Amino acid sequence: MPLEKYLKKRKFAPLRGITRSVKKTSEPRGSINIKNGKNRFVVHEHHARNLHYDFRLELPEDWDKGSIVLKSWAVPKGVPIASGVKHLAIQVEDHPVDYLNFKGIIPEGNYGAGTVKIWDQGKFIKLKVYKVNKVVKELGFELKGKKLKGKYVMIKTNFAGNKNSWLIFKK
Ligand code: MN
Repeated sequence: MPLEKYLKKRKFAPLRGITRSVKKTSEPRGSINIKNGKNRFVVHEHHARNLHYDFRLELPEDWDKGSIVLKSWAVPKGVPIASGVKHLAIQVEDHPVDYLNFKGIIPEGNYGAGTVKIWDQGKFIKLKVYKVNKVVKELGFELKGKKLKGKYVMIKTNFAGNKNSWLIFKK
C-alpha cells in the first residue's frame, strides 16, 4: 500500500474521545491514488535533532509505474549546488505529493520534530531510471529550481551495508 510507512510513523488528528499528551503534526495525510505527476521536486531544510535537507522527487511508487509519491532522501550536507562533490543521501519512506508544499513546525514528541522550511523547489526532467533485477541502481534528472539547476545523478551505493544509501552529485 502506498505511503504505509509514512502514515505509520506519524500521529495525525486524535481519534474521537481519546485525549493526547502530544500535539499532533500538521504534516499532510496525503492523497494516495494520484495517477499523473507533474515532475516537481522540493528540498526541505529540516531543523530536526540534526539539521539536514530532505530531497524529494515526484515519481511513481515503483519508479516507472504506480501511484505518484515523493521519493525522498535525507541528505545531511544538502544537494550540491556545484559539480565535483558527491553527497550522501539516505532514502527514507515515500511521502505524499501534498508534502511538496509543506513547511512549518513538527511539534515535539512527533517523528522528525523541528522546523521545516522549503530550501528550493521547481520542476525536473527525468533522464534515466536504471534498474537491475527490478531494483533501481541509478537515477538521472535535470533540476530546474531556483538554487539547483542542471543535470544530476544519484547512484545507489549500499554504503556500509545500508541498503538505503545513495550518492548524489551534479554532472
Ligand atoms: Mn527530514
